[in-house]
Amino acid sequence: MPNIPAPTLHRLAVLTLQCMGSAAAEAEVVAKHLIRANLTGHDSHGISVLPMYVGIWQAGRLVPNQPLRVLMDQGALLLFDGGRGFGHRLAEESVRAAMRRAREFGACVMGLRNSSHVGRIGGYAEIAAAEGMTFVAFVNVADFPYCLAPWGASEARLGTNPFCASIPGEGGDPALLLDFATTTIAYNKARIALDAGRPVPEGALIDADGRPTTDPTGFIVDHTGALTAFGKHKGSGLAILCEALGAVLTGGQRGDEPHHTAILNSMLAIVIDTSRFAEAAALASGLGAVAASIHGARPVPGVADVLLPGEPEKRAAAERGANGVPVSAADWARLLGLARELGADAAAIDELAATVPQSVIA
Ligand code: NAD
Repeated sequence: MPNIPAPTLHRLAVLTLQCMGSAAAEAEVVAKHLIRANLTGHDSHGISVLPMYVGIWQAGRLVPNQPLRVLMDQGALLLFDGGRGFGHRLAEESVRAAMRRAREFGACVMGLRNSSHVGRIGGYAEIAAAEGMTFVAFVNVADFPYCLAPWGASEARLGTNPFCASIPGEGGDPALLLDFATTTIAYNKARIALDAGRPVPEGALIDADGRPTTDPTGFIVDHTGALTAFGKHKGSGLAILCEALGAVLTGGQRGDEPHHTAILNSMLAIVIDTSRFAEAAALASGLGAVAASIHGARPVPGVADVLLPGEPEKRAAAERGANGVPVSAADWARLLGLARELGADAAAIDELAATVPQSVIA
């Protein structure tokens, strides 16, 4: 599998997004979040989603250059509508607006409803941490076939509804960043497993009859069966709360409303100016003590290090930033072909293609 430098992937994403009509600034922001997902090890939300975005855009369910529409502005409470615009841009803008209010009022509760896919939620937590903000987000997924079987059910009734919470550390990095789909594995991880001809982990999927399976074919191709919730009734409950807080409270589209194969995300985010609660030195000392305690725990056999939430992503970003992002030869060819099909500048695409030696791809 070739390792492609992040700037090469970023450039290809920008060219593709501009062909979809995105203005340069929007294409840059969306590409930044996609490639950050790759860098942090979440390829499921990286550049490989572009063909899906093109399909949704061609169906008229993703609208480039959509402005953030203000629905409610009451100081520390904000509500925006995304109008099916590019979610990465709208989520970043709305989180930045909430951060300005948190700076002013100490905290802000912000709703963003009905944007297209916002991708990796942790990207917004990182933006918040860079300015000393604590961040919590409940997100729902709508306008997409059901994915998650609630605890005790043999069929799906919810999206992969992600949850994210983070607290900033020193130097603008999150000290802790927990960010996950409430399904045992993210939907796109099942898709990647199918493309690679691999089974999904045991316990992650049930088939159309509610029986455990590791074969993602029926789930991805026919939308039958369901992903299980992580953590049994607890993850299932959190997924339901993501639906209620992310979509019902904000007035966003619910997963149970008529859907297509597009994606709408609605999010309720709580942004807190951390410095109002804790002095920097006390916070650093407390978080340092928690980290030392966790890191000092004796690992079980087969585990090298006991990690904090957010550490796997930091490690991946360091490694992939230095060595490039592994992209399968088939995906690389598909992404170059897609950009060409959409009419991207041929010379620019040839130049990007030439950066990966044929010997690596063959
Ligand atoms: P995952 O199962 O890889 O879990 C990631 C979380 O677990 C991170 O916080 C990570 O730091 C932590 N973690 C992982 N291994 C760890 C270890 N060994 N020790 C300690 N902590 C560890 O993530 P996922 O469920 O596959 O989700 C992947 C991404 O998909 C997330 O970024 C999520 O936001 C995104 N997502 C987005 C949507 C959407 O609609 N926009 C929907 C679902 C998921």
